[in-house]
Amino acid sequence: TKFSDLKLSPKVLKAIDEAGYETPTPIQEGAIPHALEGRDVLGIAQTGTGKTASFTLPMITALARGRARARMPRSLVLCPTRELAAQVAENFDTYAKHVKLTKALLIGGVSFKEQDQAIDRGVDVLIATPGRLLDHFERGKLLLTGVQIMVVDEADRMLDMGFIPDIEKIFSLTPFTRQTLFFSATMAPEIERITNTFLSNPARIEV
Ligand code: AMP
Repeated sequence: TKFSDLKLSPKVLKAIDEAGYETPTPIQEGAIPHALEGRDVLGIAQTGTGKTASFTLPMITALARGRARARMPRSLVLCPTRELAAQVAENFDTYAKHVKLTKALLIGGVSFKEQDQAIDRGVDVLIATPGRLLDHFERGKLLLTGVQIMVVDEADRMLDMGFIPDIEKIFSLTPFTRQTLFFSATMAPEIERITNTFLSNPARIEV
């Protein structure tokens, strides 16, 4: 399979070509067609497999039309740590360089002010750690009812860090009609339970 077989938008294809990617990795080949069809995806993949692009590329393609409203992000990527969130944001910038999409990074350890301003301007792709996202929600600064696509990255690390209650709360704040792309390196029973509760007939891809 080539990237050009995957029905990604031409602007995304251009960006990945410029990034020097030649062929999709197995998780990308498995997940991207389902994600582009609007299906929920359960990806069982470790870091280093190319999983970030497997959710970011279809998100950019899907969100390219439309515009975010103030305080109502159109998509959400949840990451267990600040470092991982920053890495996803960096990848997003690479893949979205030819499209006009807005992004915000909501992580702890930095002031709320700039994050508040970004949310107020309207965000297509919100990349966040669960604690800081809920801080903003509880301060009344954002609504998750406009989220069309929600990604949970490294769910097994979320479990290790005690974030599962936060994740369940965040799921419950988003619309039932959202698309969910869920990634974990392993499938512990607690992770299996969450996916059974919040994913709808997911395509399961294990690499
Ligand atoms: P990840 O597993 O998402 O952290 O990605 C691991 C690394 O592989 C990152 O540095 C990506 O830039 C790179 N990468 C992802 N997909 C591809 C691909 N199809 N071809 C070459 N490099 C890739």
